[in-house]
Amino acid sequence: MSTSTLPPAEGAVIGRDGLTALVEVLRARGYTVVGPTVQDGAIVLRELESAAQLPYGWGVDLEAGQYRLRPRTDGAAFANAAGPQSWKTFLHPARVRQWTAERVDGELVIEADDTPPPRFAFLGVRSCDLRAVAVQDRVLTAGPHPDPTYRGRRSGAFLVAVECTEPGGTCFCASMGTGPAAGPGYDLVMTELVDDAGHRFWIRGGSPQGTDVLAELPGEPASEALRTAAVRAVASAAGRMGRTMPDTDLHRLMAETLDAPRWDDVASRCLTCGNCTMVCPTCFCTTTEDVTDLTGNHAERWRVWDVCFDLDFSYLPGGPVRASPRSRYRQWLTHKLGTWYDQFGSSGCVGCGRCVVWCPVAIDITEEAAALYDWTRRAEDGAS
Ligand code: SF4
Ligand code: SF4
Repeated sequence: MSTSTLPPAEGAVIGRDGLTALVEVLRARGYTVVGPTVQDGAIVLRELESAAQLPYGWGVDLEAGQYRLRPRTDGAAFANAAGPQSWKTFLHPARVRQWTAERVDGELVIEADDTPPPRFAFLGVRSCDLRAVAVQDRVLTAGPHPDPTYRGRRSGAFLVAVECTEPGGTCFCASMGTGPAAGPGYDLVMTELVDDAGHRFWIRGGSPQGTDVLAELPGEPASEALRTAAVRAVASAAGRMGRTMPDTDLHRLMAETLDAPRWDDVASRCLTCGNCTMVCPTCFCTTTEDVTDLTGNHAERWRVWDVCFDLDFSYLPGGPVRASPRSRYRQWLTHKLGTWYDQFGSSGCVGCGRCVVWCPVAIDITEEAAALYDWTRRAEDGAS
């Protein structure tokens, strides 16, 4: 049955064949479809040639410093919380060649690397990651100097969001106001249901392009009962988050705790490895690397992700400004939760939990924020 006459908000219900068709339709329209799949013991994001590559029947167990795949008996495709990668891997890649230079007859010939980017369709963008894309849109394209690489990749991208019904043990989007229901910014949004009535997806359009694609999928009108069940499943997920951020003004908390002893405590555990920045879907800092071959006739400039935990990151004449692990961890956390508001008008944290999972010594951003909050409350109690 065609779904083209349905109001986009009511959408349609599709089955696994509809998901198969969705990937086919997007590929036929010229998109490089990227979505979750199982590889090397994790659910990673990579190009999908068909929906059969989705991680049907796989869930994940997430804890601080731990990530494990777990088989599921229900065959769900999207019942797995954030994996090690985010969509910034594709929109703001870790390495981008900016130009090459050749010495020809004694002259340097410089060529900008302006290979056109793929047109991406991202399948399975979680609510927290949808917000993270919006955060990077603001950082990388809304200022006076938009980033051409990001803008080129982002402008043609088609986003298929998936509302979260299965939060992980390290998730806390509900307390950051970034999920589990999807906010704006998607072209299509799906809610997956697996129950006695079968395995199906409630799918709605969020843009003219999305509604256009929806009209090509084999589906049925979504009944009110199905829509209610989907809304309930997402609401239930909000109550099953493994973590929560303290319910306080985090921007103010960060400003008021710059001298808290907790920074020494966390610095004694932090390895300053930078994993937390690599996996974070909103971290955006880069540096440049110039390389030449052994002949000296060929050179390249690369832009690569940079890490505020590196000593070089704050190096000025005379040495690094943030020489101690204490100052570097404090910079990262106070930027994420505090000064990001001053710069970009929002939090730099969307509650995905990746930094908690992939920290080798299990440092937990929610635990650190809670410890700082407790310190301010004890200070207030002592003063009264
Ligand atoms: S908080 Fe954890 S992941 Fe981040 S730099 Fe420190 S040790 Fe590495
Ligand atoms: S700071 Fe941690 S929880 Fe917050 S968005 Fe970044 S990786 Fe996710």
